[in-house]
Amino acid sequence: MTQPATNVAVLGSTGSIGRNALEVIAASGGQLRAILLSARANTAELLAQARQHQPRWLVVADEAAARRQDWSGLPTSTKLVVGGEELDRLVADPQVDIVLAAIVGSAGLRSTLAAIEAGKAIALANKETLVMAGSLVMRRAAETGAYILPVDSEHSAIFQALQAGRHEEIRRVILTASGGPFLRHTADELSRVTVQEALVHPNWQMGPKITVDSATMMNKALEIIEARWLFSLSPEQIEVVVHPQSIVHSLVEFVDGSVIAQLGQPDMKLPIQYALYYPHRRPGMAPRLDFSKVLQLGFEPPDQARFGALRLGLDAARAGGSAGAVLNAANEAAVEHFLAGQLAFTKIVPVCQAVVERHIFIADPTLPQLMQLDSWAREEISRCICA
Ligand code: NDP
Repeated sequence: MTQPATNVAVLGSTGSIGRNALEVIAASGGQLRAILLSARANTAELLAQARQHQPRWLVVADEAAARRQDWSGLPTSTKLVVGGEELDRLVADPQVDIVLAAIVGSAGLRSTLAAIEAGKAIALANKETLVMAGSLVMRRAAETGAYILPVDSEHSAIFQALQAGRHEEIRRVILTASGGPFLRHTADELSRVTVQEALVHPNWQMGPKITVDSATMMNKALEIIEARWLFSLSPEQIEVVVHPQSIVHSLVEFVDGSVIAQLGQPDMKLPIQYALYYPHRRPGMAPRLDFSKVLQLGFEPPDQARFGALRLGLDAARAGGSAGAVLNAANEAAVEHFLAGQLAFTKIVPVCQAVVERHIFIADPTLPQLMQLDSWAREEISRCICA
């Protein structure tokens, strides 16, 4: 008897992670099926995806964009659903087996939480969910039986390496960071970088927000917080090492001194596939490492003076409570202003730090309090920039 397909809800299917996930699904020979596709406003691409994948539901968050699109080519078996709130209802549908959470930013929190409330398996790319609300999310996941499979390549690597030992045997986890496009820039050169330069990552093809986060190393700061919650670690157990080749995706050191790493080409199809098929491994479509050629792997400590985001991330991980949500929202707003040409690259981290320091800390915030702080932090960033 043939196995029924695993029904995957792809949230943010028009993004970089979403498109990679659809390639993995298309190559699965029917083992994976895209049952739901969603986007904010890129309706033309969403329609093209619907024609190829014939999902049961197509969700457009932006109502105006949905109205502008001619949907006459939509497959008759696909239902068009408009409005972000509808996503929260559909991810809980019994036909959904796994939710790939790949909406960018805090906009992804609500639908990920809805999937957690429904006790689903979640392939989590949206790290902002754990940065904002890690304590709440992990608590609810434990209560509902939802389980979270990391898609972020570093966390997928740690998740795989952790299988070599027990939790109490972990000494530390070491997140690798490529260092982004400005690894060798002096402070003076950093002060002159342009939006175009920040949008070119040396190793990874990603959406604009995370590409800028990689350039400031705020991405690694967010990943420290993500790792803290995902793997129940103390912030002191998490370290960052610069590894410019992005081949070693992260490492775990156990108490006996053994260090276990996961390696692979920098291609998100690998961690996406691992999460979607977990606990099985299938022949993959990501390119392979070729050990018949010279392969140099370098490691160096990060320069905290030029990349101050790392300190901010570690401080927010230590503080817990509302610190992550404020840091995340401040960063999202600051990156938007940078991309719009309204904020210098070197100001992104300092304005985030100012807003985190100014906020009234809440030790155990509720979801409404987190959402309120999210809005507050964004307004504060706008105020800092206008001042
Ligand atoms: P992209 O910017 O490429 O794509 C974002 C997706 O989210 C698009 O489908 C977009 O729709 C949708 N979206 C944006 N805003 C909203 C909203 N308000 N409501 C509903 N949908 C929305 O991002 P990435 O794919 O690069 O990143 C997605 C997530 O994965 C991020 O959290 C990122 O940190 C994480 N991640 C990404 C990696 C990568 O390699 N790209 C690696 C590791 C983690 P539309 O196209 O219509 O705007």
